[in-house]
Amino acid sequence: ETAGVYAREEGRKKKAIPKGVVLDKDGKPCRSCTSFRDWAAMTEKKIASPQPKEPPSTTTAATSLPLDCPPDVETLGRSTWTLLHTIAATYPTTAPMEKQTEMKTFINIFSRVYPCWVCAEDFQRWIELPENRLLPGRQGGHLSGRASFGQWMCGAHNEVNRKLGKREFDCRRYEERWRTGWAD
Ligand code: FAD
Repeated sequence: ETAGVYAREEGRKKKAIPKGVVLDKDGKPCRSCTSFRDWAAMTEKKIASPQPKEPPSTTTAATSLPLDCPPDVETLGRSTWTLLHTIAATYPTTAPMEKQTEMKTFINIFSRVYPCWVCAEDFQRWIELPENRLLPGRQGGHLSGRASFGQWMCGAHNEVNRKLGKREFDCRRYEERWRTGWAD
């Protein structure tokens, strides 16, 4: 619960941080942990008429983050899921041991460097659960091949969807969404 969180301001004056704004570990607002809407509310910027430095065609919807701004938690998340699911969708059908070890290392490092620290900490906890552990070499394990790794990644994303109150994705359609395109 980030509502009512107080940040230390210069001169030790305390100021309420608007709902939804997540603080970084240094006590300053964390841009990549906060949605643009909440960030804009805090900085009192008008989100209905963003002033992009590039032509309007490079922006998305009016209430969305302009493309030439640092990413908010949502833009960063969407781009990251695109990368993660595309990596999973192009993982070998049957992965050799070397690939499995490589992927485990990647996921572990990813979970430590992801810029939204609250997201990263929850993800770290999720990958440490016994049923979610990535164990290279285990027959039929999450890393054994594309199908199982895709289902693992889908489960990881659904965990966040549930946390955010979003609809769960049907993991049976994972290949269509991320590899083959939708069947007609
Ligand atoms: P996204 O959730 O980004 O999804 C993009 C697309 O992926 C969807 O349109 C859909 O087609 C597809 N998709 C959806 N679910 C699945 C699935 N299960 N499997 C496969 N494809 C799917 N945000 C927070 O506010 N708090 C957090 O704690 C948080 N943790 C995150 C942890 C990680 C590791 C990552 C990568 C992101 C996290 N995010 C978090 C961001 C959040 O998940 C979303 O990316 C963001 O809210 C934007 O959501 P969206 O509705 O645009 O679609």
